Amino acid sequence: MAAEAERRPVAACNGTRLVLLGPPGAGKGTQAQILAARLGVPAISTGEMLRAAVAEANELGRRVAGIMTSGDLVDDATMAEVVRERLTKEDAGKGFLLDGYPRTLPQAETLAGILGETSRRLNMVLLVDVKEDELVRRAVARGREDDREEVVRERLRVYREKTEPLIGYYEHRGLLRVVDGSRPIAEVTARMLDLVGGA
Ligand code: AMP
Repeated sequence: MAAEAERRPVAACNGTRLVLLGPPGAGKGTQAQILAARLGVPAISTGEMLRAAVAEANELGRRVAGIMTSGDLVDDATMAEVVRERLTKEDAGKGFLLDGYPRTLPQAETLAGILGETSRRLNMVLLVDVKEDELVRRAVARGREDDREEVVRERLRVYREKTEPLIGYYEHRGLLRVVDGSRPIAEVTARMLDLVGGA
């Protein structure tokens, strides 16, 4: 019975357009997968899309591979193309959960512009909050190729410099909700569903 309730989609949330914001290693990807299944919307991870392009060695992949390995951000214009193409696909019409985009203020403006073209807007931005030491520990333990400690530190530096300003940006627009990402996975999910349900 409890398991049944766990799997049941949160029907009222269909059409939800969410952004997961937070530093690398905070668990956004994990939460994005779980939440997207519960909400019945696609999880869109720009990091995953770029890694797929690198694996395919297509034109985009060749362009971004080096930047990704260094821990820096791919340029906003390239990311705008990637995100525009994905958000105009039919499945994103019923809502979506963005993981890893936007990461800069210009990207946030681009996102608002793309959504505005079809009279859509974001419903909520969930900030997954985790302290830096915990992030480095987790990322190194995860052992992804771009997760060597110095690269992790660089990605955190880039996060603070380029992405953290988005917290104030979305707070100002009344969209930001903060979740303690150091809690166990199921607890973080429950908290997020609570917030989304009450949106
Ligand atoms: P992630 O898996 O979200 O941590 O993304 C992995 C890498 O892909 C990042 O370190 C960036 O190099 C690149 N990337 C992903 N999303 C973006 C974005 N929105 N803007 C710029 N670069 C991105």
